[in-house]
Amino acid sequence: MINIALFGPPGSGKGTQSKLILEKYGLTYISTGDILRQEIAEATPLGLAVKSIIERGALASDEIIMQVIESHINTDALSKGILFDGFPRTNAQCYMLEDLLGKMDTALNCMIFLDVPEAELCRRMLERARTSGRSDDNIDVINRRLEEYHQKTLPVIDFYEERGKIFHIDGMNSVEEIFSKITDVISKSL
Ligand code: AMP
Repeated sequence: MINIALFGPPGSGKGTQSKLILEKYGLTYISTGDILRQEIAEATPLGLAVKSIIERGALASDEIIMQVIESHINTDALSKGILFDGFPRTNAQCYMLEDLLGKMDTALNCMIFLDVPEAELCRRMLERARTSGRSDDNIDVINRRLEEYHQKTLPVIDFYEERGKIFHIDGMNSVEEIFSKITDVISKSL
């Protein structure tokens, strides 16, 4: 069983690398961002509750994320393992994840941190804004998302650093080079 969390600021290439990891290892994919966008598209009560939060680039509450994760984690998901994308994103969510996996007699193998300089992140997100149609890809919202990242999400690195579970990867390399480094890290963490 392999449980991996892919971590990095918005625009760091998590989505691209997730696809490659899923193809190679056949894991269950849990992307809290994708799940929330789906809930919004289906206008569920949860979707309606988070729509304006996501649109202004803020983070959804830990309670909402707990609900999302609990409803998507199940024994099936754990047969091969899980790739978490965009979760955990706050200190409280780190404890949430430890707890959930602990109850299922498993643990996170590693957190992979895709490191990309801020100027490059803005450039990539603005580029994506032209094609993605995502309502949270515009300059004001991008700035807000980066602010949230610095305030609430960066402490997640310390959490996993203290536990020796975080691996930094330079996100400025090519997609293939990054993926090859990711597979090395996964092999080491097994
Ligand atoms: P993403 O696609 O991962 O960049 O997520 C898009 C948006 O969904 C974020 O800007 C947040 O508003 C919300 N979101 C996704 N995952 C989380 C999370 N783990 N905690 C809080 N908010 C989240």
